[in-house]
Amino acid sequence: MPGATLGVLGSGQLGRMFALAARRMGYSVHTFSPDRDTPTGQVADKEFSAAYEDLDAVREFARGVSAVTFEFENVPSATAEAVAEIVPVRPRGAVLHTTQHRLREKTFLSAHGFPVTRFRRVVTREDLQAALSETGAPAVLKTADFGYDGKGQRTIENADEADAAFDALAGREGILEAFVAFERELSVVAARGADGEIASFGVCANTHARHILDHTVAPAGVPERVAREADEIARELLAELDYVGVLCVELFLTSDGKLFVNELAPRPHNSGHLTIEACATSQFEQQVRALCGLPLGSTGQTRPAAMANLLGDLWHAGEPDWRAALRDPRVKLHLYGKRTARAGRKMGHLTALAATTDEALRAVLSARDALTRRER
Ligand code: AMP
Repeated sequence: MPGATLGVLGSGQLGRMFALAARRMGYSVHTFSPDRDTPTGQVADKEFSAAYEDLDAVREFARGVSAVTFEFENVPSATAEAVAEIVPVRPRGAVLHTTQHRLREKTFLSAHGFPVTRFRRVVTREDLQAALSETGAPAVLKTADFGYDGKGQRTIENADEADAAFDALAGREGILEAFVAFERELSVVAARGADGEIASFGVCANTHARHILDHTVAPAGVPERVAREADEIARELLAELDYVGVLCVELFLTSDGKLFVNELAPRPHNSGHLTIEACATSQFEQQVRALCGLPLGSTGQTRPAAMANLLGDLWHAGEPDWRAALRDPRVKLHLYGKRTARAGRKMGHLTALAATTDEALRAVLSARDALTRRER
């Protein structure tokens, strides 16, 4: 109940927005990660800085809280298990085990009848040749573990590129996926409570640049049947995984209207950031509610919305011009407190609500452009 202390494994911007939502509801928050002065730590009551493998430190963290969630899914299973011996972890560690490994995740999805592109495990050069003859080219070779934002993946356009892609795996286990010629990338953020109640935020449409999310609009503007089907996939997954918490399902939509699940994120997601302004309950408040066994909040969206990410590249010529971006009164600024800007690093985002998603998108994109236009 409010007044208790919640723990979050990981200390990035997702933990920060979770902590802000939790504190608003009267909870205290402790965060655990190897780093110091982190986006989450800056707004938490206590920041534990130790390696995830330091199980004594992990246990000390767990003893100080009533329940634990995570904002970073690549936490070692042993860490989640050590915490779970002391306090409830939501979503449970077994879900983490499945979703932190692309091969286990795709195997789970296909075994349970969810639509996924053809895929094969790749350990040797011969595996890759055999896999390619099944998927055909183009295909995408990804490392099986520790990948996000397109890290550790290469597109193989034709068989000649196979050797170089295999070498890039550098001895790690890989997964080869048939390339999906998608028309749009969609996502559904949804939550399941401790009592099995499910609430979905509906479908968002996402645009990536250099494999990193660039902007999101909601509603996605897809045909009703597609929206219903995407939503249904998220709901079935939550139930199938016996999930408690917030889940994001990333999907590809092809031009002939077929959906494929690309990947799952067992936590709030970048594409759900606009729920902070656009929905009665944000994805982060929903995460707090699910973690604490409270009833889920309404996911009703008040107006069409758009979100644009602010990457470190925007700092290349010095501090961005915040005043210029905020000249449009509809635009809301979120900064994550990261001390150093690096190319591709998520530093913050902008959100706007408007009468249509096109209008909201124009507002956030022109505000973002204004950040680096130096004619004041
Ligand atoms: P991921 O790291 O798996 O989320 O992939 C990052 C991005 O790469 C996706 O958002 C897609 O734009 C692209 N991508 C990944 N897998 C495939 C695939 N099988 N076919 C086509 N594009 C893909």
